[in-house]
Amino acid sequence: MKAIQITQTGGPEVLNYTDIAVPTPKSGEVLVKVAASGVNFIDIYFREGRYKTDLPFIDGQEGAGTVESTGSGVSGLAPGDRVAWCMVLGSYAESAIVPADRLVPVPSHLDLKVAAAVLLQGMTAHYLVHSCFQLKSGDTALIHAAAGGTGLLLTQMASQIGARVIATVSTEEKASLAHQAGAHEIILYTQTDFESETKRLTNKRGVDVVYDSVGKTTFEKSLNVLRPRGMMVLFGGASGPVPPFDLIELSTKGSLYITRPTLKHYTLTRDELLSRAEDVLKSVDSGKLKVRMEHTYPLSDARQAQLDLADRKTTGKLLLIP
Ligand code: NDP
Repeated sequence: MKAIQITQTGGPEVLNYTDIAVPTPKSGEVLVKVAASGVNFIDIYFREGRYKTDLPFIDGQEGAGTVESTGSGVSGLAPGDRVAWCMVLGSYAESAIVPADRLVPVPSHLDLKVAAAVLLQGMTAHYLVHSCFQLKSGDTALIHAAAGGTGLLLTQMASQIGARVIATVSTEEKASLAHQAGAHEIILYTQTDFESETKRLTNKRGVDVVYDSVGKTTFEKSLNVLRPRGMMVLFGGASGPVPPFDLIELSTKGSLYITRPTLKHYTLTRDELLSRAEDVLKSVDSGKLKVRMEHTYPLSDARQAQLDLADRKTTGKLLLIP
């Protein structure tokens, strides 16, 4: 089968479109025929070696498709069943091995491409507003990269809760998308300093929470726009990792809170995974949550997809189709 295999970490050139043997599912595993694989920033971190795994490996952490075969000890799944998964390496391929307990069912009328597009980023947005920080109606949230894959979903969920959303984006096109997703105020950070503008928009009070997935270039200013005892949710580093940080700054900047969460720890149990996935997939199915899928590439173009994502050229979700 065709797959994007990495034999050594590095730039996009290490993403090799190659032939490998179709794997056989072991005990507790399922072989899934991939209908679509989601492209996420975490795939770049693995490709670069920022996140470690054994070599060689197949990149990609998210997909949806149909069950081909099951290993021993797997019950309740049969060939043809429609499933989706995330946070399991190996989805950039025609078929993928996934532990049975990481698979979630896809509602019969939901397009598998949509399921692949929303599971990882949708569950991320879900835990960010419901579990990591319990966002309430009347809260004010600053959301960076609001027109990105995760950002558009997060903006929708936050505004549907009744929070006031201040969004940052780099272009007018992205501003318009963030606005359609429900952002109340948009800051084009390429033209306006987001720190002073956020302070102005909140009458110097500051925001209750910052959802910061940009990291290196935004972190310091993000702390500066929090109200006293506000919460910094640093959930990614699209611009690079945040340098070492002296905790005393949390005190001087207003007894702030900070967390560095990851989806894995918010889908730890089977029950939590299923209920979060069900909430997200049902919201998409009902039309409450809109998924933007403007960027679809053949599997063989994984390099281009990752280049476009890293170059801030994309909005919403990127998919690879085997
Ligand atoms: P996005 O679609 O959001 O793409 C990244 C966006 O970040 C860009 O479009 C760009 O938006 C913005 N950005 C700002 N500075 C840079 C820079 N220097 N280089 C690249 N992008 C930059 O990607 P994803 O939705 O896949 O991921 C967003 C973030 O969320 C990533 O950091 C990812 O690691 C994190 N994440 C974390 C999870 C977790 O559980 N912790 C789970 C899922 C995602 P603009 O042009 O508007 O600035």
